[in-house]
Amino acid sequence: MKILTVSDVVEPMVYHADIRERYGDVEMVLACGDLPNYYLEFIVTLLNKPLYYVFGNHDKNIVHSEQGAGPVEPGGCVNLDGRAVHDKGLLLAGLEGSMRYKQGGGPQYTDREMWRKTLALAPRLLLNRLQHGRYLDILITHTPPYGIHDASDLCHTGFEAFLWLMKHFRPRYLIHGHVHLYGHNSVQRTLYRSTLVVNTYGHQLLEWKKI
Ligand SMILES: [Zn+2]
Repeated sequence: MKILTVSDVVEPMVYHADIRERYGDVEMVLACGDLPNYYLEFIVTLLNKPLYYVFGNHDKNIVHSEQGAGPVEPGGCVNLDGRAVHDKGLLLAGLEGSMRYKQGGGPQYTDREMWRKTLALAPRLLLNRLQHGRYLDILITHTPPYGIHDASDLCHTGFEAFLWLMKHFRPRYLIHGHVHLYGHNSVQRTLYRSTLVVNTYGHQLLEWKKI
């Protein structure tokens, strides 16, 4: 099964009239944040496949209406933040946002807040283990784990809680964005224990194989 993953930049290859010819065999789309809603809506409409996403620190999707302030979510897509779902035989979960580094902007969390969000997912993952024999297949995040593909500035520091999650719940993939890739020397894939950590900055195609 082919999975298209996207984050951070609108890719001309994807945002293109030929998207069906290029990616029509994709069964699922995963979006890791910092992308405009029109882009996600374009993808989900033309490919007509489930699209799961988390927001990044640049997604300031707050609108003020007569009903009050609320996020503008991309139409036809599913926000996976803090949730675990089972779709097309895959166990998915998501955690949005970056390390808190400034006032305002999109979702940002302190290390402690991200620990809380990560721990809150655990009961669902334990239930997966009982129902499906494994905890999790793919975790999508905006920010990388601490020490993997991250950087020393606060904005781009990874979360320690993701290391703990990979150690205990052993997803096959952790897919993230947030860290821009410059040139061909940037490391885009790193194996950590049983998990392949993938920086999907731009777009990537994953081939999911049933074991
Ligand atoms: Zn970001």
